[in-house]
Amino acid sequence: MHYNVARLLKEPVGSTRTYGISESVHADDGDAFIFPQGQLSLMRTDKGVWVEAKVVMKVLVSCSRCLKIFPYPVNVVIQEEYLPTVDINTGQSLHVPEREEGSFTIDQRHILDLTEALRQYAITNQPMKPLCYQDCLGLCHICGADRNSGSCSCEEETADPRWATLLKLKEHSIG
Ligand SMILES: [Zn+2]
Ligand SMILES: [Zn+2]
Repeated sequence: MHYNVARLLKEPVGSTRTYGISESVHADDGDAFIFPQGQLSLMRTDKGVWVEAKVVMKVLVSCSRCLKIFPYPVNVVIQEEYLPTVDINTGQSLHVPEREEGSFTIDQRHILDLTEALRQYAITNQPMKPLCYQDCLGLCHICGADRNSGSCSCEEETADPRWATLLKLKEHSIG
């Protein structure tokens, strides 16, 4: 997800580039990946490069019921201004103004890296309680078996006999 913007930075404000995005990216230090697909537009601004990316990401999440890892599609529109850390014409280091801290930067070699933005957008757009599918049956709360892959023996166990008595009483009172 690296784009060399050296030439774009030398062009006048308003100059643009577009790229297709189709790559796999590490979502964190572990083995989780996100698979962004979409389009990236770059535009030279007076301060840096305006990035606009419309992306569908397949983010690996864990089902909130059965804990299975599955790819969840996340749609994001990334809109960020990337600021250069070095002057394209003089090669001098630029100080990114304090108020702009937290914004994304273009490195000393004029490489704009979209990875961090993708990561951040993927994290903030993750569902709170993802389901591998709408009617996921989840795990058995007794033996921990995945109830989507067949019933476990726990399900056949009858309810506590004391409850059975109460239920009978209730039936009588209704009937
Ligand atoms: Zn599930
Ligand atoms: Zn069970």
